[in-house]
Amino acid sequence: MVVSLNHAHNTTIEEIPSAYQTALAQYDRAVSRLDLDENVVEFMRWPRREFTVNFPVRRDDGRIEMFTGYRVHHSTIMGPSKGGVRYSLNVTLDEVRALAMWMTWKCSLVNLPYGGAKGGVLVDPKTLSMREKEGLTRRYTAELIPLISPQMDIPAPDMGTGPQEMAWMMDTYSMTVGYSVPAIVTGKPINIGGSQGRAEATGRGVIICMIEALKRRGIIDESNITIAIQGFGNVGSHAAAYAQELGFKVVAVSDIDGGIYNANGLDIPAVQKYMAQNRTLAGFPGADTVTNAELLTLPCDVLIPAAMEGQITEHNAPHLRTKMIVEGANGPTTTEADDIINDRGILLVPDILANAGGVTVSYFEWVQGMQEFFWDIEEVFRNLERILIRSYDGTAQMMEKHGVDMRTAAQMTAIQRVADALQTRGFYP
Ligand code: NAD
Repeated sequence: MVVSLNHAHNTTIEEIPSAYQTALAQYDRAVSRLDLDENVVEFMRWPRREFTVNFPVRRDDGRIEMFTGYRVHHSTIMGPSKGGVRYSLNVTLDEVRALAMWMTWKCSLVNLPYGGAKGGVLVDPKTLSMREKEGLTRRYTAELIPLISPQMDIPAPDMGTGPQEMAWMMDTYSMTVGYSVPAIVTGKPINIGGSQGRAEATGRGVIICMIEALKRRGIIDESNITIAIQGFGNVGSHAAAYAQELGFKVVAVSDIDGGIYNANGLDIPAVQKYMAQNRTLAGFPGADTVTNAELLTLPCDVLIPAAMEGQITEHNAPHLRTKMIVEGANGPTTTEADDIINDRGILLVPDILANAGGVTVSYFEWVQGMQEFFWDIEEVFRNLERILIRSYDGTAQMMEKHGVDMRTAAQMTAIQRVADALQTRGFYP
């Protein structure tokens, strides 16, 4: 367990399960099934670099406030490191480490030429004005200059950040080096070199993986499938919209303040519109109110956690009333919960596969930026689907071959690839 102190606001955050402990437990489980050199196993446990910065932001009332940020490069074995930047009051070095490690395995699993990284700033972005958010993003980026470049480490959006933050990061980096470098970040707005389909990519990928899982279980009638989604941000809202577009029934969605439920299905475009107008789901007409905890145990065919880590635990796993979990968030399930879910015969499609659509289209964006040659949306979605289905297939084969659950199979596939590359490169010096 980790308790973190929010320096900026001088308040203690409630205890959260340590994401890094979960990441290491998953790693240990996967490597125990692989025949790897023990030096390689030890090497891959460690983040390569960890960077902590404390920096000032001028608030609108003229005060200077200090903020703490992190950037962790877990691995650079397969190429430059890649990973999002999170703005949240739950950010700790431990959390960023875990997320960076998961990025290494995710990029490897879908065969992208990247290692894993992650960044975060300990801040509630809702408490910042646009001007303050811009100041914070630009100064954080300036602090990261020694660590980032299109060849070294390429940031992207994560919880609490989006296209606007990426635009400020891109501009700050470009102003520092003296010329425009669109490939320094992904998830940028399209008018400054972003990719078609990046905004939808993670949520769409979650649904592509869900469909693959359903098909393999012989389930094909969309209108009979009910889906509950925790989190209605980038991942959750796009997953919900795409699922409904395909004919699935989304019965519940939530944000940090709670959720809404209608057993007959929610009208997702109407929910999106309501959210845009009211900045909350509370009060959405024609639906019951549920808490985030209640949402997770609603009866549904597919549960999609798409908010944050540590949501499905040993406490609620015995009470889940779903047949399948497709992880939109990173690390939403603890190791203890994994065991319960496996024992109960619930299929869990793990994060490093299910939410890999985001980094996959980020990779397309980076490639397009480096080549200055842009694809249309059909090409983006066609390649996204091809890569995810190929990765799903490889994971399913690993599952069958070793008789393991899907998370372990995905991690085994990913870790084996990084281990092989490390063996080929050798240990420096
Ligand atoms: P976001 O900030 O756009 O949305 C997060 C959503 O979760 C919001 O609806 C927020 O209200 C809700 N939320 C936040 N804290 C919560 C809590 N404690 N309980 C319940 N709900 C809470 O973030 P996002 O980009 O959609 O990311 C969501 C998850 O998906 C994260 O785990 C992130 O690491 C992962 N992910 C994101 C991407 C991406 O491309 N954005 C890619 C892969 C994985």
